[in-house]
Amino acid sequence: MSVSAVNPLIYILLGCPGSGKGTFAQTIKSEGYDHVSTGDITREEVKNETEFGLKYKEAILNHVIGGIPFEEIQRLIEQRLGKAVLEGRGVLLDGYPKTKGQCEFLDEYIQTNALKDKVVVILLDVNEEEAIDRIIYRQTCENCNKIYNSKFSPSKIIDKCDECHGKLNKRLDDQDEVTRKRVYEFKEKMHAVIEHYSTGGRLHVLDGNLDPEICIENYARFHEMMHKGGGR
Ligand SMILES: [Zn+2]
Repeated sequence: MSVSAVNPLIYILLGCPGSGKGTFAQTIKSEGYDHVSTGDITREEVKNETEFGLKYKEAILNHVIGGIPFEEIQRLIEQRLGKAVLEGRGVLLDGYPKTKGQCEFLDEYIQTNALKDKVVVILLDVNEEEAIDRIIYRQTCENCNKIYNSKFSPSKIIDKCDECHGKLNKRLDDQDEVTRKRVYEFKEKMHAVIEHYSTGGRLHVLDGNLDPEICIENYARFHEMMHKGGGR
């Protein structure tokens, strides 16, 4: 049994697109953590044609900022958090909270449900240009989904997967200007959230600029330390 199966945590994961939240998730996924990404769970609601999904379909699929009242998102998050806690699983909360108001709502939920000792807030700190390069040069194998980066970790043969020789594709929303705007806007909006968690020393800042393999090692070490209750 792994350590965190005994006492799973709730990670609030902050970081701009390209900051490597997926890398962090990968580090602890094997321990049964529930990766709760607001993007994924809202799209799931659309797919399952729930009341929420039908009501906000347009806003969800077209990424309309502010298109969904945050109380509704909060309710979805609370459902997922509650379920995971009840089932004894850890949670990786990704993409929420995004504003100071949402931070306060979440704080209240955590307080009410006596989850404070389980919560660890992390900022994956990556400089903007590094994040942008990671997104712009990212390629995915259309056959086996292996991820490459044509600048940092290219395939041996151009546009061809090393593992299965599948074709490597670029995501359509990974275009340069859109990406640049997305990263800078995100960082700007993030200030209020970072400030909120910085008070009282609740924020743990991890360097996400390093090589992914080194990041994975660092994250695993951090997870072990948090799990033992050090630093919280
Ligand atoms: Zn492949």
